[in-house]
Amino acid sequence: MKPVSRILVTGAGGFIGHHLVKCLKAEGHWVRGVDLKDPEYEASAADEFEIRDLRNWEECLSATRGSIDEVYNLAADMGGIGYITAFHAAIARNNILINAHMLEAARQNGVQRFLFSSSACVYAQSKQKHADVVALREEDAFPAEPEPGYGWEKLYAEQLCRYYWQDYKFETRIVRFHNVYGPLGTYDGGKEKAPAAICRKVALAADGDQIEIWGDGHQTRSFMYVDDCVEGLLRIMASHYRDALNLGTEEIVSINQLTDLVAEVAGKRLIKRHNLNGPQGVRGRNSDNTQLHRTLGWQPSISLHQGLCRTYPWIQKELQAAGRIQITEPAAAA
Ligand code: NAD
Repeated sequence: MKPVSRILVTGAGGFIGHHLVKCLKAEGHWVRGVDLKDPEYEASAADEFEIRDLRNWEECLSATRGSIDEVYNLAADMGGIGYITAFHAAIARNNILINAHMLEAARQNGVQRFLFSSSACVYAQSKQKHADVVALREEDAFPAEPEPGYGWEKLYAEQLCRYYWQDYKFETRIVRFHNVYGPLGTYDGGKEKAPAAICRKVALAADGDQIEIWGDGHQTRSFMYVDDCVEGLLRIMASHYRDALNLGTEEIVSINQLTDLVAEVAGKRLIKRHNLNGPQGVRGRNSDNTQLHRTLGWQPSISLHQGLCRTYPWIQKELQAAGRIQITEPAAAA
């Protein structure tokens, strides 16, 4: 039997953190969750859940107290492309404070391992100018030219993790997520990502309606279902690899194709209206999982279609519960 660990998950009130806590509890570990807020859609499975603002040093010291073995540091001020392109200073300042304080507090409190959640936004923008982009390998983050604000902060916090290993032999793991989606994720309000936003728009539309897509829809991405993300996190934490690793799928699609897939899952025919003024981020982005697979002998395997078949019904049910749509049951066979 695997020994029980004492684990801290920051950002445990958020999307990935909430799923991760559930999984760690199911594996029998003792878990403390910390966040600015409670999880939005269901109660946390954590043994302790504490509301703390991790921009503050004292709060980070308290969060890491009591013989914690591992820290999954997922807390971050973040959102979809609309949000991260609108607030560079606040996002960079908030995340610098969280990451610098959490690393040092974990080290001072004798934590064994610290995982930092980075992002594909660290990759050089000049390497993502075409929709048929060459998939990004970890070394493509340099020479540095990341997404303004959010991406620059992530890239520097990665570097801080490397310095903590070099100078203090503090064990750090660095994960670069590529677009995670799934049930229990934000789907409205400005912080949602493309899959959730499109599921919401499709669910709110009637058959034959128009829906708005940001950009011309030819921009490309790969998307990872949250169960693959959580499994990858556990595997990377347990690995001996200290440098940055991509965690994403290699299934590249355009936003138009993503929209068509969601419409297919919903059983609707919709017309796409492209808003060319909408923010769309880099033109193309895909994950190259060569290093991930070499390190773990594993990579995400849940297809976008499978993941959307689990995500769309959840968003549809949420909208129904909020009274924003009425779902008509299919007529019973005579
Ligand atoms: P999320 O926004 O759902 O979760 C982040 C959580 O951090 C939120 O609940 C938020 O309240 C909390 N937080 C923010 N500021 C805080 C503070 N000062 N103190 C304490 N808690 C604070 O995001 P997520 O999708 O679960 O992302 C988790 C991590 O993964 C983040 O570091 C994010 O940057 C990274 N990431 C996610 C994706 C993705 O597609 N979801 C992609 C790349 C990177």
